[in-house]
Amino acid sequence: MFEPKQGRFGVVSVDHKAGRSAAFALLNDEEVAPMPAKRESAFAIAQFQFDCAADLLDLSPCLRQVLRVPERELSVHFPVKRDDGSIMVLQGFRVQHSLSRGPTKGGIRYHPQLDLDDVRALAMWMTWKCAVANLPYGGAKGGVLVDPKLLSPGELERLTRRYTTEISIQLGPEKDIPAPDMGTNEQTMAWMMDTISMHKGYTVPAIVTGKPINIGGSHGRNEATARGVSFLLVEAARHVGLPLDRAKVAIQGFGKVGASTARFLHDMGATIVALSDSRGAIYNPNGISSTQVQRHKGLTGSVVGYPEAETLTNAELLELPCDILVPAALSHQITRENASRVQARVICEAANGPTTPEADAILHDRGRFVLPDILANAGGVTVSYFEWVQGLQSFFWQEPEVNAQLEKVMSTAFRQVLRTAQERNVTMRNAAYLIGVERVAQAVLTRGIYP
Ligand code: NAD
Repeated sequence: MFEPKQGRFGVVSVDHKAGRSAAFALLNDEEVAPMPAKRESAFAIAQFQFDCAADLLDLSPCLRQVLRVPERELSVHFPVKRDDGSIMVLQGFRVQHSLSRGPTKGGIRYHPQLDLDDVRALAMWMTWKCAVANLPYGGAKGGVLVDPKLLSPGELERLTRRYTTEISIQLGPEKDIPAPDMGTNEQTMAWMMDTISMHKGYTVPAIVTGKPINIGGSHGRNEATARGVSFLLVEAARHVGLPLDRAKVAIQGFGKVGASTARFLHDMGATIVALSDSRGAIYNPNGISSTQVQRHKGLTGSVVGYPEAETLTNAELLELPCDILVPAALSHQITRENASRVQARVICEAANGPTTPEADAILHDRGRFVLPDILANAGGVTVSYFEWVQGLQSFFWQEPEVNAQLEKVMSTAFRQVLRTAQERNVTMRNAAYLIGVERVAQAVLTRGIYP
């Protein structure tokens, strides 16, 4: 069982410019009681990962106090009319973790098991992710406790417009910019953008990213996370000496990220041996055509039942013989229970938080190369940043330019994280955290404490 660390640590070591750390010296250096996180919740894990980085950075207690909790949290309950005339009351959230490096940025998740701790964790991870990719954003996340699969398009639209209105006090192109996440898509973003634009009385394209291209979306955004994953896997495969064209790949989750990742890796010559969705997994050691699986899913609603593969559980998929494992669904998938049975040499965390800290340690001890989520899935927010810039300038790029800029950001981030991991002799996750947390801490120190 991991324990989030709460002791006193060293002095401010991030930026010693005269006068800057002095502002922090005035703060009470005693550790404040941390925001209570549910034991082993995603937020407890996020705080534990932050604490590890804070230890390595020898971050002062005051900076820890500032960075280990979100700056703003909004929880809303709101009514939505169902198609049959009845009313359902739903709960939603929007959390902004850090505003120090710019406006906050992060997806909107519709999921029946969401809670505030999940959203806090996802917002905090967004902060470090934006910093690792060196984007001028802090992290945010939002969501609604709902199963979108049970709602009609009309109900989803009314839900989205009302939720957007409820959290609109926090949103704005210079304040906080949502994007799609699990259970939401470009149509959700179009409704959000339209709702804010109706309130303003004019069109505000830069209020969301991940919207359709005909209303100001960016070429390449839909596939950006998956493209970023495949750029990183090229680098990682080269680093561990694995020829990608002979690699066997298992992917958990066949949604926006998982399905495109399968296609990109197949195009690079890799063999996709397993895929899954919420209903189960499919496996064929000789290879699966993701295009045919997409067609099968379109017809049946699931990858399960695809005739040219055997059916497995999602848990079994994680333990299959393969070279690369890409979790691209939920958090908490690789745990201390199954980490010792994961056979893949490279684990690329397209999902947020798929590996628990105990599992991380086990994978590290077994010599597995883990591309951590805050690096691995940064492609989505990177192209969201490009979309936001294009929207603010009303000047739009062609797809080759978007992809080339994305590749530059991803390979720079990979090289910086790998160099830090080698120089400091730490895991890729700790290295990514060192870079992300240090950049945010620098911004906090440089700006000082208001008033
Ligand atoms: P999505 O909703 O499009 O797809 C999610 C997939 O996971 C679906 O195939 C669904 O069936 C599957 N799934 C749901 N519950 C499951 C379960 N219990 N076991 C196995 N599979 C299950 O979502 P997405 O946008 O592809 O996001 C996937 C992950 O990637 C999430 O963790 C998300 O936070 C992360 N992510 C997404 C983006 C993005 O741009 N969409 C960016 C960064 C990170």
